[in-house]
Amino acid sequence: MSTVLPPMSDRRLLVADVFGPTFQGEGPSTGQQAMFVRLSRCNLRCPGCDTPYTWDTRRYDLREHTVVASVEAVTEQVLAAPPTLVVITGGEPLLQQPTVTVLAERLAAAGRRVEIETNGTIAPSPALTAVVDRFNVSPKLPSFAADGDRPINAAALAAFVATERAVFKFVVTEPGDLNAIGDLTDRHGLAPVWVMPEGTQSGQLVADLRALADETLRRGWNLTGRLHVLLWEDARGR
Ligand code: SF4
Repeated sequence: MSTVLPPMSDRRLLVADVFGPTFQGEGPSTGQQAMFVRLSRCNLRCPGCDTPYTWDTRRYDLREHTVVASVEAVTEQVLAAPPTLVVITGGEPLLQQPTVTVLAERLAAAGRRVEIETNGTIAPSPALTAVVDRFNVSPKLPSFAADGDRPINAAALAAFVATERAVFKFVVTEPGDLNAIGDLTDRHGLAPVWVMPEGTQSGQLVADLRALADETLRRGWNLTGRLHVLLWEDARGR
């Protein structure tokens, strides 16, 4: 079951990992050196999630996979490394939006570019939008989402579109997903679109990229692999 956080009144974050320097493996910044801040907890329960240790209490004792860290400590750790790009991911990082905003403000003030990876169910605040370089929004398709979850929040998606700083990245797991992406992007005016295969093994990932390439081009969308999988397979924290 997922665990939804209560509002946090102080400046502490529930952190799963801070890691890097590494490469951003997905989307428009693929190949760029980055530091990653992976926050714990999610409001969805996707069966194919590759970070279940951030939310799945049936399989994990979240206390063993969570560090409660101050914004100051996370900021210091990130700024100690040279990459100018910082990716705040999860889990669902916007469950901790007030504190994430403070973190993003500090990183931006220190000259870092901040990207947020989100499932798109929680609208970004104006304060966060002001200091974020890009939102990488990944709405979950019916083929990927858990039964009973509500992965599409029209108001939140509209808020991301309004920021003019969002790209929309979709994980493709079956052939019908491309039509589902088309329906969703038409209905909510989502652009630009990035399509990504699910693969967590390099061989399968390459095969899936090749299978998707022509149709992705025909539809006018962008295609991304997962560089970290090509380089390191499914190793955690790379
Ligand atoms: S939204 Fe992302 S982090 Fe949350 S369960 Fe789904 S894949 Fe995992």
